[in-house]
Amino acid sequence: MSLPVRLSNDQRVLIFAPAGRDSAASRSILSRAGIETLICTGTASVCREVESGAGALLVGEEAATLTATNALSDALAHQPSWSDLPILMLTGPGPDSAAAITAAARLGNVTLLERPVRAASLVSAVRAALRARQRQYELRDRLSLQTLLAAIVESSDDAIVGKTSEGIILTWNTAAERLFGYSAEEAVGRPITIVIPPDRLDEERRILANILRGERMTHFETVRMTRDGRQFDVSLTISPIRDASGRIVGASKVARDISAKKQAEQALREADRRKDEFLATLAHELRNPLAPIRNSLTLLEIAGLEDPTIERVRGILERQVGHMVRLVDDLMEVSRITRGTIELRRERLNLADAIRSALETSEPLIRRAALDPALELPPQALYVDADPVRLTQIISNLLNNAAKYSGRSRVVVLTARGEGGEAVVSIRDFGVGIPADMLERVFDMFAQVPGPGRGGQGGLGIGLTLVRSLVQMHGGSIAATSEGEGKGSTFTFRLPLVEAPARSPERPTRRAARGLSLRVLVVDDNRDAAESMGLVLARAGAEVEVVHDGASALDRVEKFHPAIVLLDIGMPEMDGYEVARRIRARPALRDVRLVALTGWGQAEDRLRSREAGFDHHLIKPAGIDELCALLPSTRDSAGSRD
Ligand code: ADP
Repeated sequence: MSLPVRLSNDQRVLIFAPAGRDSAASRSILSRAGIETLICTGTASVCREVESGAGALLVGEEAATLTATNALSDALAHQPSWSDLPILMLTGPGPDSAAAITAAARLGNVTLLERPVRAASLVSAVRAALRARQRQYELRDRLSLQTLLAAIVESSDDAIVGKTSEGIILTWNTAAERLFGYSAEEAVGRPITIVIPPDRLDEERRILANILRGERMTHFETVRMTRDGRQFDVSLTISPIRDASGRIVGASKVARDISAKKQAEQALREADRRKDEFLATLAHELRNPLAPIRNSLTLLEIAGLEDPTIERVRGILERQVGHMVRLVDDLMEVSRITRGTIELRRERLNLADAIRSALETSEPLIRRAALDPALELPPQALYVDADPVRLTQIISNLLNNAAKYSGRSRVVVLTARGEGGEAVVSIRDFGVGIPADMLERVFDMFAQVPGPGRGGQGGLGIGLTLVRSLVQMHGGSIAATSEGEGKGSTFTFRLPLVEAPARSPERPTRRAARGLSLRVLVVDDNRDAAESMGLVLARAGAEVEVVHDGASALDRVEKFHPAIVLLDIGMPEMDGYEVARRIRARPALRDVRLVALTGWGQAEDRLRSREAGFDHHLIKPAGIDELCALLPSTRDSAGSRD
């Protein structure tokens, strides 16, 4: 690094000679040689010009009066330390005059030139003086560069420390004083370990070893210690320092205090965790009121009232509750994604089965959008190792989006094919499309494409985030393409193909909702939820009793002998786990089926309910169909009225 300092007066030669003839002659000789000159006729002006910069000074002996010599000597004394202005003095022939001797002694860097001086001698003497002056300028530039660097180091907010290759502190700037609490006098000469917490001394040994190998370390985040023992987070950048021969003689270390940044990161993580917790709790709380609403709707349907208004209202409520359930489910899923608690139950399955099941799931939305899905499947079955529920969810989410964003188009094409060891599934619509800059971002959490024709779809911007997470969890990838707004979109995901199984696994068949002839005890402190569930079960043919707390449940289970107990978990005083444990503790009640009915559906919740003695775990709002799916095995157990 060098400073390009070049001042305009650096090269000029001042001519100080009262005899006009002398000055004019010198000037013309020097000008011919390309040397810039300035003639000064008085002491005051020569002193002034010396101060404003010159490469050399040419003085006629006659000009060097005692007064002029003193004044010039004063002016030279004020020059910076690097400056030693070369002075050429033209003397008369013969022995040295007293003026010349005094001037040579007082003015320092003086060369005497005896008249008559030949033009060539004058030019070469001046050039030699200017060359010597040039070396002074180089020194000046080096000094000012050093001063500048020192000022930069001093003014830095980061601690900048120099140390030997043994780790002894060589330099210590003001920020280092501020950061570590040691003054430069206290720190220089001591080992750098004074700022390293004792449990991190090994780290310093590793750093030094790296430096000695010539490696640089950038943004290395660690902990350092102040003089009074306080530890704080720092980011270090450490570089080797080499001498002129390239040998590593030490290291420079820039330390930045990042404790504020770390605290902000921690606060963000905390806020994020609270948000997840809030979402999970919110979803759970929202689920509770949905259960009785759904049950009541089922009852209304079973009641079969003829009034067309009631039938219409029931339809509206059912659709809206369905929508609410989807939103709440999405909320639950988002908190599962962020906490990484989604678990896959993978099995080898035929992709076409998942596609058909997704078409069934998305049927209401597809019907509402009046879409006509076209299915293009290969003749041979494609097998993947996937969780059937989640794979259906992936495809169904993409189909729902195709329905939501189809605009006036009525076509959606679902294609599956095998390609290079992968199953490739595309869902293509011809609707509103996606602008190019959003094709990646639509997969981000809460991302929604703004603009007309998209609003009012009632989504949270979570679906595609979930889809991508699920695809990735299955070892696959997903991408969106679109030719732009109004030109439709294609979502394509790929999953690794697996071998076909020896024979396809059999699926249990579901039991119809009606014709239950069992005793069922419903336990829930939410009265609406309990009553409505009781009514639904009763309409389905069960003999039902409903209670609202754990103690009554224990009492009724002894006397009523239910085949099944539907048990809410979150109840005051005695929760569902405790009730289950107490029922399981009574050998006489061994055959009673315990079904947990709860808003919490995480793997650990299921594990807990199993440990408490539950046979099944249903998530609210569970419909009668889900309940019935659990029942075949209970048909002939205790409490059956058959
Ligand atoms: P949501 O549909 O709930 O807003 P998603 O995560 O499923 O959330 O989708 C994110 C955004 O991507 C949507 O808001 C929409 O703007 C855009 N998008 C998704 N699928 C399509 C599609 N098939 N056509 C056009 N835009 C789509």
